[in-house]
Amino acid sequence: MRCPFCSTEETKVIDSRLVSDGFQVRRRRECGHCHERFTTFEITELVIPKIIKSDQSREPFDEEKLRRGIQHALEKRPVSSDDVEKSINRIIHQLRATGEREVPSHFVGQLAMNELKKLDKVAYIRFASVYLSFDDINQFTKEIESLKD
Ligand SMILES: [Zn+2]
Repeated sequence: MRCPFCSTEETKVIDSRLVSDGFQVRRRRECGHCHERFTTFEITELVIPKIIKSDQSREPFDEEKLRRGIQHALEKRPVSSDDVEKSINRIIHQLRATGEREVPSHFVGQLAMNELKKLDKVAYIRFASVYLSFDDINQFTKEIESLKD
């Protein structure tokens, strides 16, 4: 990485160690050009990516909105709140695990569909019929066929 003092790319790590109980790496670097020293920290990025909507606008991920969508599909279905929360946690975990800064909204929809498929087939079909666009109908028909097997 570039030296913050003279901007040359020629810097080397002279010391590296774990800090914050092993959750960060602290590196001492030295510039090969001006010989200044500086410190960098490496940390895990665990942010929930922003959502890219179909009109290309971006919005923060909204957990409540996801929960409402899932609960709506599950209305009057025999699924416990505990199982719903576990599903929502798995979706959030998968969003974080992408490591992306932004993901398309249909990606979140697909994750929700995968979870609903495991929770309750009726809710899965309800959710899919609201969520999928006309273009996806062919694919969805195949999904329904595969559920019959
Ligand atoms: Zn330098």
